[in-house]
Amino acid sequence: MSSRTYEGNLPGKLGLIQHRIVKCRVCTRLVEHREKISMTKRAFFEHCDYWGAPVPSNGDPKARVLIIGLAPGAHGANRTGRMFTGDPSATFLTSALYRTGFATLPDSSHIGDGLSLKDVFITSALHCVPPQDKAVMLEQNNCRDFLIQELHQLRGIKAVLALGKVAFDNYVKAVSVIHNESYNLKFGHNLSFDMSPKTPMLFCSYHPSPRNTYTKRLDAKDLDAILFRIKDFLLKTSD
Ligand code: SF4
Repeated sequence: MSSRTYEGNLPGKLGLIQHRIVKCRVCTRLVEHREKISMTKRAFFEHCDYWGAPVPSNGDPKARVLIIGLAPGAHGANRTGRMFTGDPSATFLTSALYRTGFATLPDSSHIGDGLSLKDVFITSALHCVPPQDKAVMLEQNNCRDFLIQELHQLRGIKAVLALGKVAFDNYVKAVSVIHNESYNLKFGHNLSFDMSPKTPMLFCSYHPSPRNTYTKRLDAKDLDAILFRIKDFLLKTSD
């Protein structure tokens, strides 16, 4: 059984939320799955000490941009312990963030690589890797509580980028709970939604998973274009 402690540098209540995330064992199926992967490992990473616990959020606590992923990659974040770190999805996203000025390095390989996110905070709908990247609704409901808690603390967010439908749906549900309002929104790649004057602008992209990027459903230019749209939006709305 993996027992980990949050060692990141997020301050105050945002840091406390990460402590709770890392210790969480609510979803029995996901606890078993994340720990099994960390024991069996992929042959290429057999020398690695897999994180094997819920992966905390990371980034700039005063960020204006919130990126929401699906869940840790089995041999990426579930191995390295940092969101979007150590797998092809991480490389794809981080290189786009670097090209558009939101990251200091073009790759995210391991926790000590020196990468800093600029004006960006990254979280995910699930903090544990689900089998076949598919979480059941109960697991999504369980983990959404952390997203709601984070949204209460991230006071500077002006734009949200949902990577894929699961991230999108969970964010919309979280906002519904926070504002006690219902929204009838459907995910679509490259769409954006001005949900209400009280909420950040919501942007959408396909998730940068190998399933999408290797098939060119999502290419680097697509993701760059969405991130540049977010940059323009921030410029236009800056005080
Ligand atoms: S997915 Fe979220 S709620 Fe479920 S065990 Fe992991 S951290 Fe806890």
